[in-house]
Amino acid sequence: MGDFNYDTYCGLYCGGCSIIKAYQTGIKDPLACCLGDELGMELKCHGCKTDTVFGNCAVCPIRNCAREKGVERCLDCSDFPCPNVESMQFLLEMLPHWKTAAVNQEYIKNQGAAQWLEQQAAQWKCPDCLTDYSWYAAQCSNCGKDLGALKPYRNSFDKRIFQLMAMPKPEELFEQETLFKLEGTDLVKSQNDFVYKSLEDSNLLFDLYYPPDRLPGQKLPAVVMVHGESPLPNLKDSKPFISLGRVIAASGLAAVSFNHRSMMQGFGMKDVIGDIESLLKFLADHADQYGLEPNQIGVWSFSAGAPFGLYAGIHNTPANIKCMVSYYGYCDFVSLCKLLNIPLDENALAQIEQISPVNLLNQNPDKIAPILIARGGNDPFPGILESQDQFIKTALTNNVRVDLYNHPNGTHAFDLFNDEPRTHEIIEQTLEFLKQHLWVI
Ligand SMILES: [Zn+2]
Repeated sequence: MGDFNYDTYCGLYCGGCSIIKAYQTGIKDPLACCLGDELGMELKCHGCKTDTVFGNCAVCPIRNCAREKGVERCLDCSDFPCPNVESMQFLLEMLPHWKTAAVNQEYIKNQGAAQWLEQQAAQWKCPDCLTDYSWYAAQCSNCGKDLGALKPYRNSFDKRIFQLMAMPKPEELFEQETLFKLEGTDLVKSQNDFVYKSLEDSNLLFDLYYPPDRLPGQKLPAVVMVHGESPLPNLKDSKPFISLGRVIAASGLAAVSFNHRSMMQGFGMKDVIGDIESLLKFLADHADQYGLEPNQIGVWSFSAGAPFGLYAGIHNTPANIKCMVSYYGYCDFVSLCKLLNIPLDENALAQIEQISPVNLLNQNPDKIAPILIARGGNDPFPGILESQDQFIKTALTNNVRVDLYNHPNGTHAFDLFNDEPRTHEIIEQTLEFLKQHLWVI
């Protein structure tokens, strides 16, 4: 089998690794079972600092960065702790053995690496019979001793982490069309690149999609699509929004696709809220010019755009927003900030909790327009299902008109990736919902 090296760049100890232990002994803990048996990955590794590493570790951004910079460990790097390390924070919740990395870095800083390796070698042995054990082993494979209490973290992990890692990259997402097809989408007319807001160095733009059979001078209700977070700019020109804009228009409504600034690009929550407000105001002020019915607006938001779309529709209950749709979205700002690693002090936390859509449901609930929530039951994003479930619960407590569509197999962006009847059914019902609430003039 050759030599093993249990030292790492990040502070995890490879000698406790589920993969290495399964490779050496054939005994798999629950993490090794998940990776090897369920996901079919090869459980072969000699340690992070060797050239024979497990697949996921070979693409680890921390490992690759340290090797490129030629540092022995993150601690030795002048940029530590850098965004690379901090962006891994959600791993702490999903793969809690990661919590040992920070503890170990601290130990190494004080006692040195050699002593740490000795201390770890002793820690990952059963205290009764000295048999090695791994991160998620609940009992000693030899004597059956309960090992859970020996670990400084929860003794289970969240499998959705591996789905999350397998999610398509932003560039791939950009090229993916909606799976729902409707007759007449190729006849839809679009008009592009209108300015709704001028910033210091750029303009924010929107596109319009009109039904093929629109009559001259006819004013149409409009569905405004709110995109989520992406490191890529110009999401209105991405295939998901172009294709969905055409579907909405083919169903008889006007569709509006627009770019807003995003937090991943370094802008603040207020900027995003402001952009959406600006667009809605612009559409209301210029409705005649664009052939829109200013008092019949629906807001359909997606993913990390959902708390913003819901906020726009619920905050101050604007009378012209007649319905809202949230697809696989966060329904509060706190979990979104957590996902994006945006640090919040106590004040900021209290403020954004207060303006989160889930809390706005408690104010004037009888004036809130109907809401449709579509939920991908297999959505791997941290905290997203919890956020939706809390929103639904609060909506029901306040007796708000809410329609829930659960997609048991649905992943994040199920309208792009889950080609199955339930996906088509949900999109079809969503279009019905929009028509029902927007065509009543
Ligand atoms: Zn034992």
